[in-house]
Amino acid sequence: MSTSSTIPAVHPGRIRVLKQASVQSKPMGPVVYWMFRDQRLKDNWALIHAVHQANQWDVPVAIAFNLFHQFKGAKARQLGFMLRGLKKLYSDIQSNFINIPFFLFQGEAVESIPSFLKECGASLLVTDFSPLREVRQWKEEICQRVHESEVSIHEVDAHNVVPVWVASEKLEYGARTIRGKINKKLSEYLVDFPNLIPPKLKWPTSTTDIDWDNLIANVLREGAEVPELEWCEPGEQAGLEVLIGNKNGFLTTRLKNYSSDRNNPLKPKGLSGLSPYLHFGQISAQRCALEARKVRNIYPQAVDVFLEELIVRRELADNFCFYQPHYDSLQGAWDWARKTLMDHASDKREHVYTREQLEKAQTADPLWNASQLELVHYGKVHGFMRMYWAKKILEWTCGPEEALALSIYLNDKYHIDGRDPNGYVGCMWSICGVHDQGWRERSVFGKIRYMNYAGCKRKFDVDGYIAYVKRIVGECKKRKAQDLLNNKSKQLRC
Ligand SMILES: Cc1cc2nc3c(=O)[nH]c(=O)nc-3n(C[C@H](O)[C@H](O)[C@H](O)COP(=O)(O)OP(=O)(O)OC[C@H]3O[C@@H](n4cnc5c(N)ncnc54)[C@H](O)[C@@H]3O)c2cc1C
Repeated sequence: MSTSSTIPAVHPGRIRVLKQASVQSKPMGPVVYWMFRDQRLKDNWALIHAVHQANQWDVPVAIAFNLFHQFKGAKARQLGFMLRGLKKLYSDIQSNFINIPFFLFQGEAVESIPSFLKECGASLLVTDFSPLREVRQWKEEICQRVHESEVSIHEVDAHNVVPVWVASEKLEYGARTIRGKINKKLSEYLVDFPNLIPPKLKWPTSTTDIDWDNLIANVLREGAEVPELEWCEPGEQAGLEVLIGNKNGFLTTRLKNYSSDRNNPLKPKGLSGLSPYLHFGQISAQRCALEARKVRNIYPQAVDVFLEELIVRRELADNFCFYQPHYDSLQGAWDWARKTLMDHASDKREHVYTREQLEKAQTADPLWNASQLELVHYGKVHGFMRMYWAKKILEWTCGPEEALALSIYLNDKYHIDGRDPNGYVGCMWSICGVHDQGWRERSVFGKIRYMNYAGCKRKFDVDGYIAYVKRIVGECKKRKAQDLLNNKSKQLRC
């Protein structure tokens, strides 16, 4: 087994010092990793950094996780997936005898994290990185609340291949302006992960057991309006299976036609299916990229297109949310787009639907209704249909602000991968032309790129997609009814 001194240090460019301890002597207190966006043990630069620091200073290390009572309206679908993933992570810690205790707190992180740091006399708090405003506000507040001069706070970008602040120092205009900047840094950042070195020192106190089943039952009850998905198994191991599993892994069995099939909503298996795992950090994008590169000699085009989505487009979304404070409102659009949208805000619409009509898929467009039903029941709409879906909302609401708010509301409520920079940017791209260019001016859309039913018909078998959604929705409803029945008979037996 290697020792801590042989660990390659985490690239210093990945780490931002949010607070520097004023004490100069060797830190004596433990290291705490506040896990938020990167919920995994493997391939996690934030955890690697936390353990490395602890071993350097001969102090113990722990993981802290804060379960918020409410996080941006997440429901059973998203919270169930997250907690089941964490339950597996917790059990992996126990069964592999990893000397890193996992503490779970409930409530507000701005209270639980500083109070835990105080209680254990920590020297260093390590956090992972998210560009979302709530998370950045919590970190600012935690920096202010941690008065102890001997505590440092480090933020590690464990989510992006090239850390967001390294890739670019400014808001990028589009893929074409960030691509070269990211590619230039890949040789430095797209490197193999070291194995996680066991901490040298044991945590001094024992931890209390976590009643995962009770926690999961609570979130399922409170968020029952949007139930869990049966097809998407949570956890690190499941994420790796989706990437490289022998049975149905993306790189092992489905990659070949990615560049053509990824635009065909009738071929959902043509996509990787990785977004739930990437969103909850149950898999690292860097691991996906490293594995994809191993098969580039066999499928060069498919791998290049996949890496464009996985690295360039995904990290462009983080760039937008990091540098644009209005990443989810019309104010965040470029001037040309805002102007054209406002010029056409009062154009007459052929149909105007209420939120309820849209949510219930009650429009005159069967293709749109199918994508909305796929969203509500299946929880992951095909990438191509997400664009059509959002653009139609612009066409059918009273103005761009309402359209944007509604699309984000529906996206985040039902998508398993919702509340993600990709989602905010996806809606902003579709409705506000972010990362896009101006197109021929037309009613309602102005110069924003337009999509319509006839265009979809030319691209793929629209009726086939509608029939496919009908089938999967039928299956979801049948399963839900069966679950209800099982629950009722279980209650009766009790
Ligand atoms: C209106 C709209 C809403 C969207 N909402 C979300 C969302 O809530 N969460 C989310 O993760 N993605 C969202 N996307 C982006 C994209 O559609 C999904 O990431 C993709 O469909 C996920 O499926 P996959 O992992 O099987 O895709 P694959 O094609 O296999 O892509 C692999 C990975 O590359 C990244 N990627 C792919 N397409 C894009 C893109 N256009 N922009 C940025 N990154 C991309 C994702 O991380 C994805 O998981 C949205 C797009 C639009 C137009």
